[in-house]
Amino acid sequence: MKKLEVLYSEADLDKRIREIAVEINEYIGEDEAIIVANLKGAIPFYADLFRCLTGKVKMDFIETQSYIDNKSSGHVKIARDLSEDVKGKKIVIVEDILDTGLTFEHILKHLKHFHGAKEVKICVLLNKEANRKVVMKADWVGFDIPDHYVLGYGLDDNQYYRNLPYIGYWTE
Ligand code: 5GP
Repeated sequence: MKKLEVLYSEADLDKRIREIAVEINEYIGEDEAIIVANLKGAIPFYADLFRCLTGKVKMDFIETQSYIDNKSSGHVKIARDLSEDVKGKKIVIVEDILDTGLTFEHILKHLKHFHGAKEVKICVLLNKEANRKVVMKADWVGFDIPDHYVLGYGLDDNQYYRNLPYIGYWTE
């Protein structure tokens, strides 16, 4: 019978998110920044991180679609676009996991081309280097993980399990 193995507990996530927030607060400094969540998987991470930010920050959201039945379709499309004017502002995109890198490649092109964004930083909770298809590096990484399909804390398994307060993966 398959069993859910815990990879990062609530306490692990809380500790690491506070550490990342300190660095992002330093980066933002006295400037205004737009903190963008890539829906839907980033939401729990985004909400916890956002509450630790201390500067002049605004929320915004983008939604990309790329995965069908837990496999990368290789195609990324913007299903929901930003609502804030980000031109000339510091932007931090918050994402649950950096896997092939195709989602970020598409988001970065979109923000630069359609929104005139100059400086876009990337903050991911999880970095899965094994499947990378393009050169893509996050500015802040919560944890580097091995090649597991992970779920919980926003990450889904066919849209379920996003509500788990920890991150885990299935074992046989
Ligand atoms: P990328 O475009 O970098 O391959 O993938 C980014 C998106 O793929 C993530 O936002 C997430 O939706 C999905 N993804 C990649 N790896 C995993 C995984 O291990 N678990 C889950 N639940 N989603 C994943």
